[in-house]
Amino acid sequence: MQTGGATRIERIETLILDIPTIRAHHLSMHTMRSQTLVILQVFCSDGTVGTGEGTTIGGLSYGEESPEGIKLTIDAYIAPLLIGADASRVSALMAGVRRQVKGNRFACCAVETALLDALGRRLGLPVSEFLGGRRRDTLEVAWTLASGDTAKDIEEAEAMLAARRHRIFKLKIGKRDVMADVKHVAAIKAALGERASVRVDVNMAWSEHQARRGIAALEAAGVDLVEQPVSREQRDALARLTRRFDVAIMADEALQGPYEAMELAKARAAGVFALKIAQSGGLFDAQRVAVIADAAGIELYGGTMLEGGIGTAAAAQLCAALPALAWGTELFGPLLLSEEILATPLAYADFALAVPAAPGLGVELDMDRVDFYRRDRPKSRLAPLARQTAGA
Ligand SMILES: [Mg+2]
Repeated sequence: MQTGGATRIERIETLILDIPTIRAHHLSMHTMRSQTLVILQVFCSDGTVGTGEGTTIGGLSYGEESPEGIKLTIDAYIAPLLIGADASRVSALMAGVRRQVKGNRFACCAVETALLDALGRRLGLPVSEFLGGRRRDTLEVAWTLASGDTAKDIEEAEAMLAARRHRIFKLKIGKRDVMADVKHVAAIKAALGERASVRVDVNMAWSEHQARRGIAALEAAGVDLVEQPVSREQRDALARLTRRFDVAIMADEALQGPYEAMELAKARAAGVFALKIAQSGGLFDAQRVAVIADAAGIELYGGTMLEGGIGTAAAAQLCAALPALAWGTELFGPLLLSEEILATPLAYADFALAVPAAPGLGVELDMDRVDFYRRDRPKSRLAPLARQTAGA
């Protein structure tokens, strides 16, 4: 390893932010009214500061890592491995971390993101440029309709179409009876017609039998894609559904990094992968998932854990460098939050997100806002900030 003159990691700080959502967001396993972000900053000896984010959905209801656990893993186990190390050797550093820290992909992703942000700032390049080079400057972004009410969802979709903000809509289903959900989706698709792509995410809520009934009806209603209809462990069932239907079946929860990607590909268990940086274990591992998908003829969709601006910018940098991204992205996380934590919000226009072009992730935290929303903020700072809504 390089020694003399190398840029060293001096310290790593983490904090938890709680930010209200713009409306209740109903998923099959959880209803979100706020989102919790774990933000970390890596301070380097040359003065560069890299920022990363570790964010999940609904505490422990979506995955195995909670926000509190992500923070603890970084503070107690990952940071001590990195202090004093050469900050620019990101791939080698993360390999070292993985020898000592099993699993904990969201925490690893947050750390890798911060190291890549710092490296990009040092090099004067956006992260996408050293992930193979940028293939696109904008990313189409889907919106999730999850108010739980059909008329409200149609109204919300119409407003998004009119504002030219989204024309791909993902509906969160699986909480109600299968046919009640199908009726809800079919009504929305009928209202929007060919003006929009309508997709559903069942978040593993169906049995295989329920999925056969549900997907047949959704296909007939004109739905374009069905995401993770059955439990993530039921890879064979997912494969049977993929063979049975023409509508695209997407793996999300079943896809936990390159090894699961390989098993899903071998089993022909999905036609599309929801590529997520956190679920993959970082940007490098997400790239490995993308390579496996490409080799297997599986199409890609840029997924989200409903991250805030930092995690969303990181995913955007990766998506910008992918050779193919047939199904667009759902990188709308910051738009679901009622408050902005970036100094300059990410730019959403003409149905797409502009991939930030400045060095690193290309975004900066507004530290006053970060301070305000941190869970451990002193009571004296409870005076309300002026409301600021992200995006258009
Ligand atoms: Mg999903």
